[in-house]
Amino acid sequence: MTPSASDALYRALPSVDDLLREPEIAACAEEAGRSAAVDACRAVLEGIREEIAAGRLDSGRLRTSIAGIQAAVRTELGRALSSSLKAVINATGVILHTNLGRAPLSGGAIAHVRETSEAYSNLELNLDSGERGKRDEHVDRLFRKLLSDAVPPSFGTEQAGRRSFSISTIVVNNNAAAVLLALNTLAEGGEVIVSRGELVEIGGSFRIPDVMAKSGATLCEVGTTNRTRIEDYERAITERTRLLLRVHRSNFEITGFTGQPGLEQLVRLAAKYKLPVMEDLGSGVLFDLRRVGIHNEPMVLDSLRAGVAVVTFSGDKLLGGPQAGILSGREDLVRRMRGNSLFRALRVDKLTYAALEATLLAYVKRDYAEVPVLRMLELSNPEIAARAESLAAGLAPKAAGAARPAGHLTVELTGGESLIGGGSAPSALLPTTLLALTSSQMSADELARRLRAASPPVVARVDQGRVLVDLRTVFPAQDEVLRQILAEIAAS
Ligand SMILES: *Cc1c(COP(=O)(O)O)cnc(C)c1O
Repeated sequence: MTPSASDALYRALPSVDDLLREPEIAACAEEAGRSAAVDACRAVLEGIREEIAAGRLDSGRLRTSIAGIQAAVRTELGRALSSSLKAVINATGVILHTNLGRAPLSGGAIAHVRETSEAYSNLELNLDSGERGKRDEHVDRLFRKLLSDAVPPSFGTEQAGRRSFSISTIVVNNNAAAVLLALNTLAEGGEVIVSRGELVEIGGSFRIPDVMAKSGATLCEVGTTNRTRIEDYERAITERTRLLLRVHRSNFEITGFTGQPGLEQLVRLAAKYKLPVMEDLGSGVLFDLRRVGIHNEPMVLDSLRAGVAVVTFSGDKLLGGPQAGILSGREDLVRRMRGNSLFRALRVDKLTYAALEATLLAYVKRDYAEVPVLRMLELSNPEIAARAESLAAGLAPKAAGAARPAGHLTVELTGGESLIGGGSAPSALLPTTLLALTSSQMSADELARRLRAASPPVVARVDQGRVLVDLRTVFPAQDEVLRQILAEIAAS
């Protein structure tokens, strides 16, 4: 297009003032306020200018765009004035999907958040004495219950009479913050020994060497990527050593010619030099996952029993609660962390405490089915298959063998695997039954895009030209909505 031709197109555009005089847009401005309407007009006009600049509009297409401008302004205004963060249906089968907000909260957690946040609460008030209380006491008492039978003899009885330790817990913004706070408190200005096989990166921005540097501690790497021996740790201990750190390889595995000392060995070595061992567990499981066939995800209790002085883990991974970083361990060490001014900067608000307290109460009562993440973990393949079967039958009543036609869609049931995700148990696969969808009219990527554009948005996996829907992570109450969304797409 010549510059003068595109100039003519730009000149054909109405001004913001012209648009505001249009009756439909004037009504919008009346309803939503003039400044919101002006912003929406500007955004729509800017969109059209970009189209002209890209050479995608001739005078005919421009007339069509201008004819639709009032509707476009209304849509833009609607989008600008509604939430961008919204509930979605997770049909990926990844239980802890970081992009989808990790753990969905339990009904009890939501109710407790509402109850304690729509009114005032005793967040930092001791109701017995009427004096100032500590916000972390609300969950510390529950962690004491859940972790009390983990107290190893080395935590107390050895120092008989004089000092006795028990397990204490504090909560910060996330596990990354927990690791930062622990390293800063226990090792600032000193050295921390870590195996080269554990210098991990989690989720792109959490890297052990970087967090170590920010904490003011110096990283002392020992061993090799695949093998680290207890002697490697011992040789590295100097008078500057403050801590032995173990990091759980949450999101990858090392297989083949590998080896690392057991936790007990590490704890024995540390005790010989009067050093603490800290473990960054990542997921920090409080529930015996062996019940659902997962054997390689460490439990918080096991680490504390082995004599680890401080463990750190996330509230929104396998614990199934709100985003939080949890530090549990020897009372004297946790007290030092509470006294660190970084703790004040990393602390969490009442919403997090409320959601976490209710989640932990479900554990204390052994009411595991209350916690959605645990419920999804425990779902059996036959239960999922029955729901998938019924959804497919509701969508496409007539089966032609395994494949069922529904409009331009074809639905098929197929075996597959759900994932825990969120940097937990990377190799743990849970058997599931998938709905595999293909369309005669669009690619799998386009079909997935249509699902994401639905209300509520549906997020599914795309694999080998098919859209895969895994009901493990779909709440049973959402099955019918999902069926309706699929039926609408099939009929369109
Ligand atoms: C997930 C994870 C982290 C980061 O936890 P966030 O709660 O996401 O901050 C740190 N360390 C390990 C081992 C992890 O698995």
